[in-house]
Amino acid sequence: MNFGIDDLPVRDELRGKSPYGAPQLDVPVRLNTNENPYPLPEPLVERITERVREAARNLNRYPDRDAVELRTRLAEYLTRTAGHRVGLENVWAANGSNEVIQQLLQTFGGPGRTAIGFEPSYSMHGLIARGTGTGWISGPRHDDFSIDLAAAGKAIAEHRPDVVFVTTPNNPTGNAVPAETVLALYEAAQAAGPSMVVVDEAYIEFSHGDSLLPLLDGRPHLVVSRTMSKAFGAAGLRLGYLAAHPAVVDAVQLVRLPYHLSAVTQATALAALEHTDTLLKYVEQLKAERDRLVAELRALGYEVTESDANFVQFGRFADSHAVWRQILDRGVLVRDNGVPGWLRVTAGTPAENDAFLDAVRDIKKEQS
Ligand code: PMP
Repeated sequence: MNFGIDDLPVRDELRGKSPYGAPQLDVPVRLNTNENPYPLPEPLVERITERVREAARNLNRYPDRDAVELRTRLAEYLTRTAGHRVGLENVWAANGSNEVIQQLLQTFGGPGRTAIGFEPSYSMHGLIARGTGTGWISGPRHDDFSIDLAAAGKAIAEHRPDVVFVTTPNNPTGNAVPAETVLALYEAAQAAGPSMVVVDEAYIEFSHGDSLLPLLDGRPHLVVSRTMSKAFGAAGLRLGYLAAHPAVVDAVQLVRLPYHLSAVTQATALAALEHTDTLLKYVEQLKAERDRLVAELRALGYEVTESDANFVQFGRFADSHAVWRQILDRGVLVRDNGVPGWLRVTAGTPAENDAFLDAVRDIKKEQS
């Protein structure tokens, strides 16, 4: 018998949908998921092993449910790098920032409520909204992918969303959102709501500009979400976190599963945080490579969106999927995010970026 998903009583809003995920193809150069290309340094691998061994002895017990030591270290990292004091009471951590976003939507969204994002942006915001029964509103952007403030203000006033997502630097476009824009959106959201404004700073360490963490001062409806998946080069660890008013940290605990962060995860993240300075050195290299990709793609005649992230959006193509395939045929996997006319490439090692640039150069040559 052919029994499939459609034969199960799945929720109506999930019918006919596909799970999120970039293709994980086995090709020599993978520049499609905005990962950090550098493996963890050996001294850190050693430290993780030590910390995890220690944690393993106590795996008969549940982990620290409130992840106090980890949140304290994350708060120290934020305070040191963003120049704004953040304490344990301001920080919450979960399994990747996707889980942070899910917990926020479970807390502040849900059936009968809505969330808005300005698209193209990180598609999981809309997908997690759907998964939590939250209605999704797609807000507008200008042609240069900056947020259309007038239209955004109108949409917020009209729909009165419960959650407003702002991704800066934005994925997949790469551009950062100026602080004034976020402030204007916050004001609009408070006038219509008050609703929560979630600033997704997954890529902030790669930005030319500063984190918006200082905006938390006096704004209890603002949340900044972060991850160790990108700058820390630890996508496999699954550790995301947020900074916000302590009331927000109390609120998300109403929906978190008890002991959601395993003792192994907490031990590994703590070890990585001990090596913050070494890991952040790679960020400088990746920023330089990102800038090189922008310059070389422009020199080749491509249009490139200004990038503050560890990836670059380039175009324009009459058929971006066909070009994605041509690049893949040359052994390099980039991302077709479904933004018509554009593709996205993650900054890899210098050799990986050279392979990518050779591929697009070759394609250009073939066309001329
Ligand atoms: N936010 C943005 C903007 C992202 O691009 C990603 C990952 N691609 C995430 C959040 C989620 O990252 P993670 O769950 O690995 O922290």
